[in-house]
Amino acid sequence: LPERYVGSEKSVWVEYIQLALEHNPLNLGQGFPDYAPPDYVTKAIAEVAQGDNVLLHQYTRGFGHPRLVNVLAKLYSQLVGRQLNPLSEVLVTAGAYEALFATILGHTGPGDEVIIIEPFFDCYVPMVKAGQAIPRFIALKPQKKTSGVISSADWVLDPNELASLFNAKTKAIILNTPQNPLGKVFSRSELEMIADLCKKWNVLCVADEVYEWLVYKPNEHIRIATLPGMWERTITIGSAGKTFSVTGWKIGWAYGPAHLMKNLQTVHQNCVYTCSTVLQEAVARGFELEMQRLGQPECYFQSLAVELLSKRDFMAQFLSDVGMVPTIPEGGYFMVADWTALTNKVRLEEETDKNRDYRFTKWMTKNVKIQGIPPSAFYSPEHSNLGENYVRYCFIKVWLVSLCL
Ligand code: PMP
Ligand code: GLN
Repeated sequence: LPERYVGSEKSVWVEYIQLALEHNPLNLGQGFPDYAPPDYVTKAIAEVAQGDNVLLHQYTRGFGHPRLVNVLAKLYSQLVGRQLNPLSEVLVTAGAYEALFATILGHTGPGDEVIIIEPFFDCYVPMVKAGQAIPRFIALKPQKKTSGVISSADWVLDPNELASLFNAKTKAIILNTPQNPLGKVFSRSELEMIADLCKKWNVLCVADEVYEWLVYKPNEHIRIATLPGMWERTITIGSAGKTFSVTGWKIGWAYGPAHLMKNLQTVHQNCVYTCSTVLQEAVARGFELEMQRLGQPECYFQSLAVELLSKRDFMAQFLSDVGMVPTIPEGGYFMVADWTALTNKVRLEEETDKNRDYRFTKWMTKNVKIQGIPPSAFYSPEHSNLGENYVRYCFIKVWLVSLCL
């Protein structure tokens, strides 16, 4: 294995999906809905597959199927308040994963530093290392509370610690809002603090916004690209998997100014080159439909979060009832909970992993048949202890509806 991949061999997804196959638990681990996506996207696939335009079964434009980049440019032009060029400022990728990969590999090299906020979506680190850059970590920490529920808003960055990470070698910061796994939706003042540092040190902001539509009122998703002076230094990433509840389609995108997108195009054209035409066409049709009802309650981008709210609250109640202490997410479809009050009820000694959260989640999968994800996977090895008291559960699952009723 080349040096740049050494240390990245282990993947929590590979391990836990295998574990689920072996033990058949209620799978609240990997994040995906277990119910049907909106019928207009599945109908669109069927129509495209059987329709007269046979060319839709062949390669399409490498940087994105014209119909999809056009509608993405139209949508995000509205959302960021500037006119996007569909050909040079939008790139369609194989899921948000490839958008992250093209951004990181296209903008970093040996010796560059990339700031990553813990807990993080785990693939950021291997990607930064694949580019031979150096990840620098800062953890969101829960503020001490004497009473009341804990919200993802209570997990905050220390401004001085953040400022101290920026230096002449800093190339980029990865910002995930709404965030996985905590569900934190960064506030305007938090984003301004990050933006000010990016501008001061001439740093690229990689904004992973795959959960942009999954925000619980009154919280509001703010795109950091819309802050003054940030458009020209931000690449924003989205996912059709999250937007339309079709994670298996693996269609994602990145948008940003042409001079930054150029580097992503170079990585993409020499790796994936072009993504599935049929799926891009179906996603484009889905966006065209939703754009007509944007901001209205029946728009899927609005209704999904409303529907999820009762599942979120049910999950929080359920976890509290069994003795865990959940952090209530402001966005996304994951919930992190402190499980340590259950220590006497589980037999951690039956598992051999170094981190207690791995032992807890494995024991629970095998013995209680409920699977969660160990959050220490979302920390650097030196900070993994910060995740050990927690477990992450995904609540976009149908079973919760039946239990709610
Ligand atoms: N970023 C975050 C924060 C995620 O949770 C995920 C998983 N959906 C991705 C990126 C990757 O998205 P995709 O499935 O579109 O590749
Ligand atoms: N983003 C999803 C999660 O966090 C899935 C990740 C994956 O399958 N690699 O659960």
